[in-house]
Amino acid sequence: MADVLPDSRRSIPRTDAVLAEPAVAGAVERLGRDLVKGVVAAAQAAARRGEIAPGDVVAATLRGLPRAATRLRPVLNATGVVLHTNLGRAPLSPAARAALDLAAGTCDVELDLGTGGRGRRGAAATDALLGAVPGAAAGHVVNNGAAALALTAATLAAGREIVVSRGELVEIGDGFRIPDLLVAAGARLREVGTTNRTHLVDYADAIGEDTAFLLKVHPSNFVVSGFTSAVGVAELAGLGPPVVVDIGSGLLTAHPLLPDEPDAAGTLAAGAALVTASGDKLLGGPQAGLLLGSAGAGAELVARVRRHPLARAMRVDKLTLAALEATLRGPTPPVRAALDADVAVLRRRAEQLADRLRADGVPAEGVSSAAAVGGGGAPDVVLDSAAVAVPEALAAPLRTGEPAVLGRVERGRCLLDLRALAPDDDDALRTAVLAAHRGV
Ligand SMILES: *Cc1c(COP(=O)(O)O)cnc(C)c1O
Repeated sequence: MADVLPDSRRSIPRTDAVLAEPAVAGAVERLGRDLVKGVVAAAQAAARRGEIAPGDVVAATLRGLPRAATRLRPVLNATGVVLHTNLGRAPLSPAARAALDLAAGTCDVELDLGTGGRGRRGAAATDALLGAVPGAAAGHVVNNGAAALALTAATLAAGREIVVSRGELVEIGDGFRIPDLLVAAGARLREVGTTNRTHLVDYADAIGEDTAFLLKVHPSNFVVSGFTSAVGVAELAGLGPPVVVDIGSGLLTAHPLLPDEPDAAGTLAAGAALVTASGDKLLGGPQAGLLLGSAGAGAELVARVRRHPLARAMRVDKLTLAALEATLRGPTPPVRAALDADVAVLRRRAEQLADRLRADGVPAEGVSSAAAVGGGGAPDVVLDSAAVAVPEALAAPLRTGEPAVLGRVERGRCLLDLRALAPDDDDALRTAVLAAHRGV
């Protein structure tokens, strides 16, 4: 190698020549000149080191180009965690992706094309939401679940009291805590009960002139078991002040696999005035915060929330509105498909993948696996699943490959769990494993 290097160096194509190649020029149009030049420079450097032939610089450039002008990289979620917060929670349905693309241009997000006058922003998404939640009379969409709760507190409880059980003072993740968020919104907390037990009388005794609302927060990321008791929404609703419930996951109606996960329709039916939830957890949509109000009192509260000055600071963009509406109106989103997937089908996929990988010389085996809902939801629910087990040494090259694959290392093996992976991605997974295997 060493004695061919000088000649090779001389024949490394110059940057301008590479950029002029039609395929590379097309990439410059799509991705921008600076980005493509960076990839060309990396390919030239590889040729200078003798890692590729000088004649391969154009091909290496094309291989090295990202799909889009972003440093974000696609990742195949083989962790078995259906809602992986570090992987962006819910993957969007094809319907939602198409809606995103449409909304990315100019669109009538806030215009009534019939009259030519201003239209109600978000009307289509809100209508879809109300259509999907029996008992919801009014709705509003904000940036995320935390924003929905913060805006509710700022609107209804600034300088007043929120009555909440000590068992529901939840840290949601990354050090952020619901009680801190409520206080930051200007509310005072009136904590009642204890960590494990709170009774109706605790709430009743705490209600006074300053009470803005009674709050229930679903402890979505932990379970307290043993000597426990909590008060249900129906009982609280009888006490007088409005009941606000942060259900967390965004389940709109009850799901048989998740009996302990509260749903929006059931919570409103039990007497909640307002329900808040996330859009990118079990609903399977884009990051968003949903506010739903019951007929009567709840609808009035939603109207107030909408007009609060901070509502403007938590406003969602047209992309979110489009993707949310399409998630609600469109076919089953991937998260729900993953949750409802038959484990027998997952096993068959795992066996097939393992067979094909073994035929290509990769030590692989179809195994049973335990998947989880994730996204800080349903912490005690184990979803039966199936995985392809490959050598642990493949975990790192899989993670840094293209596309990246994130699996789970367990007892000396790398498990590629199929629960959260769309069946359409099985081929991409197989190709990625082969590439990783060849590299180690
Ligand atoms: C996830 C969650 C939140 C935060 O929602 P984001 O959409 O992540 O802001 C708040 N409350 C509960 C109960 C949750 O589960």
